[in-house]
Amino acid sequence: MGLIRLLPRSGAAQPVVEPVNDATPEMPLEEALVEPPVVSEPAHEPEPAEVMTVAPAVQRDDAAHATQGTATHVIVLANQKGGVAKTTTTLNLGVALREMGYRVLLVDLDPQGNLTMSQGLNPDAIERSMFDVLVHRIPISEIIEQREADLAVASIDLAGAELALSAMIGRERALEKALAEVRASYDYVLVDTPPSLGLLTINAFVAATGVIVPVQCEYLSLRGLVQLENTLAMVRENLNPHVGVEGIVATMFDGRTLHSREAIEILEENFGELVYRTRIRKTVRYAEAPVKGSSVLKYDPSGAAAEAYRELAREIVAAKEAEDGAQARKHA
Ligand code: ADP
Ligand code: MG
Repeated sequence: MGLIRLLPRSGAAQPVVEPVNDATPEMPLEEALVEPPVVSEPAHEPEPAEVMTVAPAVQRDDAAHATQGTATHVIVLANQKGGVAKTTTTLNLGVALREMGYRVLLVDLDPQGNLTMSQGLNPDAIERSMFDVLVHRIPISEIIEQREADLAVASIDLAGAELALSAMIGRERALEKALAEVRASYDYVLVDTPPSLGLLTINAFVAATGVIVPVQCEYLSLRGLVQLENTLAMVRENLNPHVGVEGIVATMFDGRTLHSREAIEILEENFGELVYRTRIRKTVRYAEAPVKGSSVLKYDPSGAAAEAYRELAREIVAAKEAEDGAQARKHA
């Protein structure tokens, strides 16, 4: 029994679920268990009603992509809920991919600047940042700092970017345009987003080849995931037909609690293969590392916390290779 239905990307253009009320408070796991999210069934079910299919990861079936060879993966870490480990995952996954030898750019698109801070930089003291890139259209290469991976920094004025952008033509494509300059220099661009589905996050979705959603096992919000998918469906329809959820990563997992295990069960029941097998366990290491201005891979290289993100990186790379192989065969 699927609790929610999400749109198969190749299917009918209308989302199968109605947008849920924004004002609805997040639902603790217990409530999620007893009270399924309010899902209004459509009058007409689209025929091959694929239950629980979130749009599959990037389909590179257009000519541009086919000729590009191994294209840059622009992965957006998104979840409009705060504190689910978006920033932690952006940094540690990025550094793990770096360790594997990939060229990685991290983009801090959150005005709170936590990603920037977690690499030992002070967003309050930064003069030029993603704000200037998006609003004043300065080249992104001018604000990239070399840290554990390359990092396009945020500053506090990024908080004004949504308002400034909203009056601009092409406001949803500012990040996509900015990335064009440096795209070929990276294998992976990971974009950290604010806890909202506003214009900054939309910019990230428009630039993305795929979206990874970190979810917190302690406080699972299926409703939030439906909202996120609805926003992605709108972006697909109007701005970027290739974007979709390519994976869900369970964070703050505590295998000793029934609660955590149930959260995983619910996720797998609803999203199947989209849920990465790697689970990020709950440990204070993830909070300690950024205080030292480093990833957990640098802070405690041989620890289990670092290993978890290495494992996630391997899982993501393997999925990409399988996908690229399938595409190559399709174009052969
Ligand atoms: P978000 O970017 O989604 O708001 P963060 O990455 O900032 O979330 O994480 C929120 C808080 O939880 C931070 O203090 C972070 O250090 C901590 N945290 C992240 N991942 C874990 C984990 N697996 N176990 C314990 N604490 C974590
Ligand atoms: Mg964050």
